Amino acid sequence: MDFRNRWSQRIQSLPPYLFARIDEKKREAQARGMDIINVGIGDPDTPTLAPVVDAAREAVGRPEHHQYPSYEGMLSFRTAIARWYERRFGVRLDPANEVLGLIGSKEGIGHLPLAFVDPGDVVLVPEPGYPVYHAGTLFAGGTTHYMPILESNGYLPDLERVPESVYRKTKIMFVNYPNNPTGATAPDAFFGAVVEKAAKFGFIVAHDAAYSEVYYDKNPPKSFLSFPGAKDVGIEFHSVSKTYNMTGWRVGFAVGNPSVLAGLGKIKSNLDSGIFQALQEASIRALELPDSALAGLRDLYQKRRDIFVPGLVRSGLRVTPPKASFYIWAGLPKGFSSEEASLALLDKAGIVATPGTGFGASGEGYIRFALTVGEDRLAEAVARIEKLGLFGKR
Ligand SMILES: *Cc1c(COP(=O)(O)O)cnc(C)c1O
Repeated sequence: MDFRNRWSQRIQSLPPYLFARIDEKKREAQARGMDIINVGIGDPDTPTLAPVVDAAREAVGRPEHHQYPSYEGMLSFRTAIARWYERRFGVRLDPANEVLGLIGSKEGIGHLPLAFVDPGDVVLVPEPGYPVYHAGTLFAGGTTHYMPILESNGYLPDLERVPESVYRKTKIMFVNYPNNPTGATAPDAFFGAVVEKAAKFGFIVAHDAAYSEVYYDKNPPKSFLSFPGAKDVGIEFHSVSKTYNMTGWRVGFAVGNPSVLAGLGKIKSNLDSGIFQALQEASIRALELPDSALAGLRDLYQKRRDIFVPGLVRSGLRVTPPKASFYIWAGLPKGFSSEEASLALLDKAGIVATPGTGFGASGEGYIRFALTVGEDRLAEAVARIEKLGLFGKR
């Protein structure tokens, strides 16, 4: 039997998973013997920091870690998160009820709407944006209201453009700075305005801070929770994935408003059984590393950015160097569609880049590159793009 025609409505109404289609095209190009440079997906290419791997190795051997963990995470793990928040952001958290362990932040982001959203409820989602905000909303039976984030507005949603009737039905607003896919950061005034709207209309703010530690020019972004009133209306998602090159380990956390975390925890305690404790031990080690341990990684991305961006500009793309994240959001010359440009790059130059439309309709006219390959390959990629002459300038 083939059950594909019996897939649930919620599965059938999902937008096609972006990277699946690109993967298929990539395999075709590879089969033709093309040398592929993959700057399409945001997955750090350098290994997890060595002390973290050592801590994991040691912890795996300890039998007390072999049993079911608690769904919310070990107290020592939650305490390490609270300490890190205080050290890095000046934000005080109570490990007892203001910190919740997650099996990667994606897990928590996807599950949050299940805890708060009923049919008829609205979730505000930035667009272009991380696809999981909409998927989680859809799975919970809610309605996504997209908030376009446009270059002309500094890649911030225009909070005054959301109709009051929509705000009144809103249960959650997702926000994400440093932003994927645009690499933008948000000014203090924006977070202040978000807190004000949330307090006025009584919705939850879920700030996704996955890239807070991947920043440039020694200018660290702030935590949403460091703004007055933020903990009263919201939570922040975070993870060790992008910060410590630990995407494969699946360890994340949510912090902030205890009643929001309790709702999310209720879902989790019924669906999963927490993070393998040895991985929590390794993550404690990561969070206790001095900030200087991350300076090398930031330098690495900065060098890559400073090689890649000028090359893209020379080839005719419109690029503002990002303030944070490892993404380059490049504007195409007039007349190019995102899809057309990314297919041409793959077909003619062997470069995998992501079409902006994969993140939402307002991504039309852009493509996203990830700085997750070495300097020599990035130099090779820009050389190929320049040589191709596709985007006009030389
Ligand atoms: C990578 C990413 C995440 C998820 O990371 P996890 O590995 O699940 O912690 C969340 N949000 C954004 C915007 C991301 O790019």
